Amino acid sequence: MENKNFMEVTFNAESKNEGFARTCVAAFCLQLNPTLDEIADIKTVVSEAVTNCVVHAYPHQKGIICLRCEIEDRRIKIQVSDKGIGIKDINEARQPFYTTKPREERSGMGFTVMEGFMDKVEVEKNKDKGITVTLYKDIALQVSQAEGE
Ligand code: ATP
Ligand code: MG
Repeated sequence: MENKNFMEVTFNAESKNEGFARTCVAAFCLQLNPTLDEIADIKTVVSEAVTNCVVHAYPHQKGIICLRCEIEDRRIKIQVSDKGIGIKDINEARQPFYTTKPREERSGMGFTVMEGFMDKVEVEKNKDKGITVTLYKDIALQVSQAEGE
């Protein structure tokens, strides 16, 4: 039978919510019985995407972050969106070492890390304001699960 589920949370774009966001997605993914490595990968990419919203999206005012997760069979889709200033040239921003904040000790590796840990990463402009980062990962079926243990 097809396995489908989703969850959505919205919270302030503040660094104190980064841990919440990471743990929230990890907890939701547990229903797919991921390995510790898979959970670690998911936490890392959620941190990168949420930190980007906190650091870059709202330089002049406070803002919000919307986090949505969908499960379809063994695939997890994670969407992190903001309503901030957006990105002019998305392809340029996705290049390794590209950062608009070199003076704040940013290395410009956030999107590169996301690509390394996930199966697919999409970065799109929203219709109104800001961007949405969509991250996809297939969670492997463990042998013991496949055998129905
Ligand atoms: P690091 O992630 O290594 O600390 P970084 O955040 O600058 O550095 P990336 O995460 O790869 O590097 O992002 C690259 C650039 O894309 C950023 O410097 C910023 O200009 C832009 N960017 C990323 N996310 C957003 C966002 N949500 N809103 C606006 N600009 C963004
Ligand atoms: Mg970053």
